Amino acid sequence: NLSEKLDKALHVLKGHGQITEINVAETLKEVRRALLDADVNFKIAKEFTNTVKEKALGQNVLTTLQPGQLMVKLVKDELTELMGGDAEGIDLSGNPSVILMSGLQGSGKTTFSGKLASFLKNKKTKKPLLVACDVYRPAAIDQLHVVGGQIGVEVYSDRDNNDPVALAKAGIAHARANGHNVVIIDTAGRLAVDEEMMTEISNIHKAITPHETLFVVDAMTGQDAVNTAKAFNDRLDFDGVILTKLDGDTRGGAAISIKSVVNKPIKFIGTGEKMDAIDVFHPSRMADRILGMGDVVSLVERAQEQYDEEEARKLQKKIAKNQFGFDDFLSQIQQIKKMGSMKDLMGMIPGAGKALKDVDIDDDAFKHIEAIIHSMTPEERSTPSVLNATRKKRIAKGSGTSVQEINQLLKQFNQMSKMMKMMQGGGGRKMMQMMSG
Ligand code: GDP
Ligand code: MG
Repeated sequence: NLSEKLDKALHVLKGHGQITEINVAETLKEVRRALLDADVNFKIAKEFTNTVKEKALGQNVLTTLQPGQLMVKLVKDELTELMGGDAEGIDLSGNPSVILMSGLQGSGKTTFSGKLASFLKNKKTKKPLLVACDVYRPAAIDQLHVVGGQIGVEVYSDRDNNDPVALAKAGIAHARANGHNVVIIDTAGRLAVDEEMMTEISNIHKAITPHETLFVVDAMTGQDAVNTAKAFNDRLDFDGVILTKLDGDTRGGAAISIKSVVNKPIKFIGTGEKMDAIDVFHPSRMADRILGMGDVVSLVERAQEQYDEEEARKLQKKIAKNQFGFDDFLSQIQQIKKMGSMKDLMGMIPGAGKALKDVDIDDDAFKHIEAIIHSMTPEERSTPSVLNATRKKRIAKGSGTSVQEINQLLKQFNQMSKMMKMMQGGGGRKMMQMMSG
């Protein structure tokens, strides 16, 4: 199972404070395997993982809060980009707008014609007409009439006419005469690509110059879908792809391969036999689907939360018992430093920004703080109240700092412990988590 594999892949990243070359490589190996399982072409999968690897290593991930999630994001963003970025609509500017369906037999043309008609009809401003141009099987015409009946959309057909080009033209004329502003032309397919079918569909295409030529393909056919797409695109230079039968277990890797090979947007997906099982294609959602990312993201988050909560709980206990000492202070500051800008972070918590205004941690100051704390005895670290003038002098000497700096640090320490106490309620938990993340 794909999401299990990715879980495993991302498991490598859990608990690591950083993304290293080794766990990036390991993770991406699993991602690649996942893509191959989802029917993505081998070459495309390889290129993809190379790109992500470069990006992961190029990013300053060492300082990020949650490297695992960053990795997930990188993979997802790249996958989304590969599938076209944003959702693309269809051209409805004509009056009527003519939409031509193409694709193999059984790909779902007739079903999708109905779904699209229903989808557009629901937009209120559209009055679609379905045109039956599959002249080879009488049942095909019946099927379109059944579909039209279900969704309340008129169907144009003529059982005495067996010329698909003439039928398409007659259908468009019928639409014009009857105030239909969208014409959806359902055509015949074959079980495999053959010259007769290609000639027929390209003749219709030439004769009616549609606003949109859509290529309908069964997502379950995997790699074959890519070859078919290429054959149709070579002849029709179509405008968009409809990926059907994405319900059930189909992973939709065909979406990536098709987009990469013909470079045409996927516009809609079919997710069932019923007329409302149609969705606008969203590359980012498909990326989620292909990677089973919904699961992966929550898994990574849960792992992170557990870790954070454990740390936060320890810390809260200490604060409650007034045991918050310099060792904790040091580790908190280390966490904060790792997270980057303190001010950004504090901005998330109402009222907290002011409390920490003075705790500005630049690298030099941090080195001094570290030196000072390291020069303290364990007793002084856990019970800072014992720090008298003599002790301070000793620590200043040992750490190469001044009593003044130690006093400054004590002030910061007191501020932080005060803040910790203050935030033990609602917002505090989040803060703790962030600090110990
Ligand atoms: P055509 O030959 O290209 O016109 O294909 P049809 O529209 O007749 O569809 C072929 C079969 O696939 C029919 O049994 C449809 O009910 C089914 N079908 C079409 N689209 C979908 C879909 O998105 N999901 C599922 N599960 N079945 C579909
Ligand atoms: Mg059909």
